[in-house]
Formats: sequence, C-alpha cells, structure tokens
Amino acid sequence: MSTSPISSDKLIACPDCDRLTRKPELRPHQIARCRYCGALLRRGHGDSLQPAIALSLASLILFAIANLFPFVSLRSGGVEQEIRLSSGLFAMAESGVPLPGLVAIGFILIAPILRLAGYLYVLIPLWRHTEPPAWRAVLRLANFMLPWSMLEIYLLSVVVALVKISELGSIVIGVSFWSFVLLVVTSTWLSSITDRFALWELVELWRQK
Ligand SMILES: [Zn+2]
Repeated sequence: MSTSPISSDKLIACPDCDRLTRKPELRPHQIARCRYCGALLRRGHGDSLQPAIALSLASLILFAIANLFPFVSLRSGGVEQEIRLSSGLFAMAESGVPLPGLVAIGFILIAPILRLAGYLYVLIPLWRHTEPPAWRAVLRLANFMLPWSMLEIYLLSVVVALVKISELGSIVIGVSFWSFVLLVVTSTWLSSITDRFALWELVELWRQK
C-alpha cells in the first residue's frame, strides 16, 4: 500500500510541539487541535475581511481619541491635574528609571499602532482588489506586533492605580479613558477573528477573487 506525499502547503506545524498535521478545513466557529499535544492549531473564521477592516479602523480612531483628550483628572486641595495617556507614558520614560517607561511606550503605543496601521495598509487595497507594495513584509511586521500589544494589561494596571490614587483626592474619568476601554474591546474582537494564520489565509482568499 502506498501513501501519496502531502505538499507542504497542506500541512500545518503545531506551535507547541512542532509536529506536522494535515491542515484541516474549518467552517466558522470550528476549532482544530493538535492530535499529539492538544494545542490549538486553528479557528474557522470564514471570510472576515470587512469586519477586520472595520475593527482595525475603529481601533485606530479610538486610539487617536484616547491620546487627544484627558485620560483622568485628579482634584485635590483645590488643584486639578489632568493626566493624558501619552504624557503619562512619556513622563515614566523621562523619570530617573526610563526603562519601564520605554517598554510601556513600545507595548501601549508603538506595537498597537504598527499592528493596526499594518492591517489597514494590507487589507483595504486587497478589498479593492489591488496589492500594495511590500504587503507581505508589512503583514509579517503587523503580525509580529500582535503578542507585544498589551492594551488590556495596561488598562488593568490603570484601574489598580486609579483605586490607589483615589485616596489622594477625587478622580474624574475622562473621554480618553472610555475610548481606551472601547479600544481594548475592539482590539480583542479583532484578534478573535484574525489570528496570524487566519489572516494569511484571508489574504490568499481575497487575492484569488
Ligand atoms: Zn502539538
């Protein structure tokens, strides 16, 4: 009995144990797991190009709003101090110990912006049936930024910090804070419909249309 060889584009490597499995065909909401270690291999997403564009665009707009308006204001002893998202991060970077601030700027500003802008740079032309220059490199960079984009962790740390500084005076939550909360929602939603494997498949699907 002979078994025919499987071409490499029909195989998928497990991210946990590196063993190869035949790439499963999945419908939306189905998931495939590695038969050896049980790690998640793929999710079935269907054609999610337009939702991915809408969520990337919404996230970038929310990001802009989160940076343009006050994040929180602290009122204490008749004095009010506004704290903005970016000014808070840059103040950390300019403090005596700049490394945590620089890391936070990378995780909270640079990585999410590169990821969202990269997706839009590739997906919008594709939706209009053109291919932008160097789109593969841009998509690779955008995908590389995915694990370094830590918006939800930052939000959690901000909430903890707000509880602490509320002892110093009254806190007024600004428009920027609520934009940031919505940004975490849209960004997480975007991640759930476009993991890095699904995005490449989506791109190939639309290139063939
Ligand atoms: Zn595995």
